[in-house]
Amino acid sequence: EATLGVMGGGQLGRMFVHAAQSLGCRAVVLDPDADSPAGLVAHEHIHAGYLDEAGLARLAEVADAITTEFENVPAQALARLAERRFVAPAGAAVAYCQDRAAEKAHFGASGVACAPYAVIESAADLAAVADSLLPGILKTSRMGYDGKGQIRVRNRAELQAGWDELKQVPCVLEQMLPLALELSVLSARGADGTVVQFPVQQNLHRDGILAVTQVPAPAVSEALQQQALASAARIATEMGYVGVLCVEFFVLQDGSLVVNEMAPRPHNSGHYTMNACDVSQFDLQVRAMARLPLRTPRLHSPTVMLNLLGDLWFDAAGAERTPPWDAILALPGTHLHLYGKTSARPGRKMGHLNITAATPAEAERLAREAAGLLGLPQDW
Ligand code: ATP
Ligand code: MG
Ligand code: MG
Repeated sequence: EATLGVMGGGQLGRMFVHAAQSLGCRAVVLDPDADSPAGLVAHEHIHAGYLDEAGLARLAEVADAITTEFENVPAQALARLAERRFVAPAGAAVAYCQDRAAEKAHFGASGVACAPYAVIESAADLAAVADSLLPGILKTSRMGYDGKGQIRVRNRAELQAGWDELKQVPCVLEQMLPLALELSVLSARGADGTVVQFPVQQNLHRDGILAVTQVPAPAVSEALQQQALASAARIATEMGYVGVLCVEFFVLQDGSLVVNEMAPRPHNSGHYTMNACDVSQFDLQVRAMARLPLRTPRLHSPTVMLNLLGDLWFDAAGAERTPPWDAILALPGTHLHLYGKTSARPGRKMGHLNITAATPAEAERLAREAAGLLGLPQDW
């Protein structure tokens, strides 16, 4: 039986460990945090920093194959591990996903349109920005997530102020696009080049954080779904990617499709697959790592996923509370996933709720009822 290693111990690592264990694999997690959600359920938890030589050596010793759940894992750590073990995705592919400038260049090379943009590394680059990119969004090239590290700028004065506020690190400025809605596509690519994909997900964000995912995507034509799937497959194949890859897209008000960004791992928008598909995104990551056959997942139930952020653990007066799980679990079709995090804080991802049903309309109705019970907006 294989031992699978994962860099990072967050909830994505935890769900990977569960999937690995259900296929009879052992799982080892490397994470500096002694209470990491994945470390708590793994066979072995290596408490070490991502660049710690002894920690990396231990991981390479015990794991037959190694993956990452953390998109900002240092590419050099993956390269180091790859000297001894099968590592997927490869450090080079992860490096594209860590740098918005490299990522956008890769989209271009794959023939997939992204928002018009400019790379800004200096005051001279800032001055040379075309007027057509404003209003826009200034994003740090590296380390941004959940909408952090980005500033909306309407004009040149705000652009200058934003660049100063982001401390003048390398950034990209993207034109602000008129979005109709957002989508994502999860693909799994094997070492032999096989690509399998989940159906398109329609996503709603609140304050830059994913809030709701619906599948089947209610407002996306079949043709556009096919275009998104084909684009995501091209992006994975052009990188020689191995493992699970998430690609986020925008649908613009004129109906056109534009790629936003990608993540070199299973993704929050794919958590619905755990209950709505016959293999989950984590199952496919395990299969890719253990070099087991990949097969096209089948959606067996229309579904809505509600993200459960730490805000739900506080009442209106700011006192800690437990959300009303009894009432949620009494609804038909609910699947509650909690990540075992020891403390809640606003905006922190604590869990998710998948609601499956026989029809999309029924999943919608139940999801709205669940949102009402939780005190979540019903704005999707
Ligand atoms: P994630 O947590 O998904 O990694 P992130 O911090 O990397 O998020 P992005 O996905 O780049 O951020 O942007 C966050 C959200 O901001 C998008 O989902 C979208 O709603 C909005 N957004 C980003 N870029 C643009 C754009 N060019 N035009 C319009 N809206 C945008
Ligand atoms: Mg991102
Ligand atoms: Mg995003």
